[in-house]
Amino acid sequence: MSALSRRSFLAGAALAALSLPAGAAAPMASAQGPGVYRYKLGSYQLTALYDGVWYVPIDDKFIRNASGADVNKALAAAFLPPRVLPISFTALLVNTGSKLVLIDTGTAGQLTDTAGSMLANLAVAGISPVEIDTILISHFHPDHIDGIKTKDGDKMFANAEIWVPEPEWKFWMDDAQMSRAKGPVLRYFLNSRRIFSDMAKEVRQFKPGAEVVPSIVSIPAYGHTPGHTAFAIHSGNQSMLAMSDTVRNPYLFARHPDWQPIFDMDGALAVKARRTMLDRAAADRMLVEAYHFPFPACGHMVKTATGYELVPVEWQPL
Ligand SMILES: [Zn+2]
Repeated sequence: MSALSRRSFLAGAALAALSLPAGAAAPMASAQGPGVYRYKLGSYQLTALYDGVWYVPIDDKFIRNASGADVNKALAAAFLPPRVLPISFTALLVNTGSKLVLIDTGTAGQLTDTAGSMLANLAVAGISPVEIDTILISHFHPDHIDGIKTKDGDKMFANAEIWVPEPEWKFWMDDAQMSRAKGPVLRYFLNSRRIFSDMAKEVRQFKPGAEVVPSIVSIPAYGHTPGHTAFAIHSGNQSMLAMSDTVRNPYLFARHPDWQPIFDMDGALAVKARRTMLDRAAADRMLVEAYHFPFPACGHMVKTATGYELVPVEWQPL
C-alpha cells in the first residue's frame, strides 16, 4: 500500500466508524437498565430483584413521635425533597444450589405505576416463575404479597410452596379482627383474603424463630404488623440478615431508629425489633438486606452516636 492510498484508507475507516457526525444528538433512553444484582453468601447465590419505587406523600403526622419539620430535615440530609417518602421495593432470590427460594413477591404492578417490574427482572436473571421452589412471606402488606397472584387472581408461581408467619395468618384472616378495622388496615385485611382465601389448604405456616427451609431461619420482628418476620440466611461460615420491613428507608429509620411511622401498627414494639436487629447487624458486622432499602438493597450497618448508617455494597462484576 502506497503512503497515499494508506492515508485515504485510514481516513475512510475513520469516517465509517463515525456513523453520526461529531456532536449529533443520540436518542434519550426511556427506561433504566435491568434491576438485577447478584451477590454471594458462602456457596449461595443471592439475586436482588428490583420491583420499582413508590413516591408516597407524607404529612406532619407521618411519624407519631417526630415533627414534620424534623422529618423534612432528615429527608433533606439524604438529598430528598420534603414531604415525599420514596419506598423502593426489592425482592430477594436465594439460590442454594438445589432450591430457589424467593423472599416476598413484589407489587405485581397493583400498587403504583412506578413499580411492578419484579417478574421482568426475574426473567432477565434467567429464571421462570415456575422454577421457584419456595416463597417465604415476611408479612401480609400488599407490597409483599401482591406478587403471589395476578390482578385476575391467577397464581404467579405455579410450583412454589408458600410459607407465611403463623401470627400473621392468624391476625389478617381473623374475621373479628377485620370487623374492627378501617381505612388502609381494612384494605390490607381484604387484600390478604383476595390473595390467600382460596389457598388456605396449600399455604404453609411457620412459627417465627423456626428454620423454615434448611439454612433460612425466621426471626420474629413484630410491631410493623402483628406477625412481621425477618430472616437469617446461612451458608458455609457466612450469615446475613434479610430484615424485611424492620428498617425501611435507611435515611429515616436507621438514622432515627426510634421514630414510629404510622404504618408500624405497634410503634413501640417495632422500635424494639428495629433496635435489636440493627444492633445485631452492626455488632456482628453482618451483611444485611432490606426490602425497602435503595437498590440493590444490601450492605452493612454501622452504629453512630445517634443511630445507624447504611454502607451500601459496591457493585461487583462477578
Ligand atoms: Zn413493605
